[in-house]
Amino acid sequence: MNGKQHLLFTSITGTALYLGIMKGIDPNLSMMDSSAGAISYSAYCLSSMIGSLLPDIDCEESLFGNKIISNLFPRHRSYTHSLVHVGIFLSLILISVFIAGIFTPLPPWVYKGLFGFIYGVLSHLFLDSLTVSGIPLFWKKKNFEYVRTTKDNEDIYIDHNENIHLLPENLRPKSGKKGSSICTIITAILLTIIFMVINPVFISLLY
Ligand SMILES: [Zn+2]
Repeated sequence: MNGKQHLLFTSITGTALYLGIMKGIDPNLSMMDSSAGAISYSAYCLSSMIGSLLPDIDCEESLFGNKIISNLFPRHRSYTHSLVHVGIFLSLILISVFIAGIFTPLPPWVYKGLFGFIYGVLSHLFLDSLTVSGIPLFWKKKNFEYVRTTKDNEDIYIDHNENIHLLPENLRPKSGKKGSSICTIITAILLTIIFMVINPVFISLLY
């Protein structure tokens, strides 16, 4: 999926998740009730958008990528799209912020921003796992081949049972093709419904 699709997907579903959680905790609460609420929501939005673009830092053409940075990675969709490596990276950030919070009380927007960032990164992996290439669960260089077809000059990844796919083979869109936009929109709508309808009900059951 390209950067615009990741941004669109994360903005819509991220807002739905934020609202869904708030509605679940307090149905009368509004995220813009106070300036603190607006700051927290802004921090959440901004960091979720950064998080949604960050995994493609291994791609030269992406917003955060360039030739020097992309050369640090074996290829596109390697470590930055591996659930294991990303999980370790996010855990370290999470632990660092919570340790910092023990010594110095941090404002609420820091935690909302952290939550948004983690959601942004995970939503990127989720969206990419719907595509033909999928994402590498445990990145191993040997288990992933990369070929360039001569027919339409399109890059194709061939994975050897290491990549995860969340869609059946005949429904997986190719990144950059029309199907990927349709897939992004349909998935965003479905996830929005889950976050806005199911999530508040689920959270309210916990209280
Ligand atoms: Zn990606």
